[in-house]
Amino acid sequence: MSKILINEIKSHLKKVKDFQSDNSILETKTLNEIIIDNRTITIILNISKPKNLYNNIIKTIENIINDKFNSYKTNIILTSENLISKSKNINQNEDIKPEGIDHIIAVASGKGGVGKSTISTNLAISLSKNNYNVGILDADIYGPSQPKLLGLQDNKPTQNSEGKINTLKKHGIKCMSIGFLIEPTKPMIWRGPMIQSALQQLIKDVDWGKLDFLIVDMPPGTGDVQLTITQKVTLSGAIIISTPQDIALQDAIKGLNMFKKVEVPIIGLVENMSYHICPKCQEKTMVFGSGGAENTAKNFNVPFLGKIPLDISIRENSDKGTPNKNTMNKNFDSISKEIIKFIYNNETKNF
Ligand code: ADP
Repeated sequence: MSKILINEIKSHLKKVKDFQSDNSILETKTLNEIIIDNRTITIILNISKPKNLYNNIIKTIENIINDKFNSYKTNIILTSENLISKSKNINQNEDIKPEGIDHIIAVASGKGGVGKSTISTNLAISLSKNNYNVGILDADIYGPSQPKLLGLQDNKPTQNSEGKINTLKKHGIKCMSIGFLIEPTKPMIWRGPMIQSALQQLIKDVDWGKLDFLIVDMPPGTGDVQLTITQKVTLSGAIIISTPQDIALQDAIKGLNMFKKVEVPIIGLVENMSYHICPKCQEKTMVFGSGGAENTAKNFNVPFLGKIPLDISIRENSDKGTPNKNTMNKNFDSISKEIIKFIYNNETKNF
């Protein structure tokens, strides 16, 4: 059924002429793929020019789908994946690190919901407060949350005269997120190579300027996608976030092994939601148990960077986009001090 539908869609899309061409997007191979999933028609287009030049083509496609297949939603994805893989300059073992960036640090977790994004933001803020130039790349394609965490969700990035994407700046941090570039309400079907090319572009095609640190908020998990990013991007080190629960720790161990496999140095493990202090009686409760991440770090012979409590101000300030107002600043500062020691070989610069 979906094959018949795909052919029908193709026959209608034959009418769409490619950018500055008399040929249709099928002939020029700008139409890469049509995927039908549930009630959504996803159309993947290969692009070789700045995205905004494809606005007319996108509009025409949307009109055709709305007109002829009105019981379906449309989702159009632009990718330069094919062009990238065809390019001789780029190969599997490419080392990606833009010139102006001194250190790229991955913040990873074995599973979602353990606070990886929250900790990425707060560490970036702590480093920035201590006079480092910091950028944050939200690579969490499954749930990009940096726009919201930094209070930037209503912003759209612009392009500079060289065609590079400008970062957005808040709380002293430069930010780029896949969340700025996709429609949050439209479902996305990501395939491995698409994710990789999108993430490579977010590092290389963004005008990051001069940075001491680019913090990469990684997609959760340890699959092929994560492995390839860690292989392709020149990382100075990785930080792994876990809660003290056994199940989260087991996944964190998978993360440790992934970075070890590709010889990325492990800066250390952070235990999030370690304990809760009752604001009224000051009683300390180990909601998810405690000490598990510290023991895991010992067992695997990697540094333990510190504990972050379960704290309502962290959650509230994350939701409000005001992470600079956290009452747990000291905890984040002590972890970023450890990062600095690791990166600059125990010289405690600036702190
Ligand atoms: P991940 O990036 O691992 O999926 P998030 O950073 O999005 O996780 O955090 C998941 C949820 O937990 C968010 O609502 C966040 O505000 C909350 N959260 C994370 N860490 C803490 C903490 N230490 N105290 C209170 N809430 C937290």
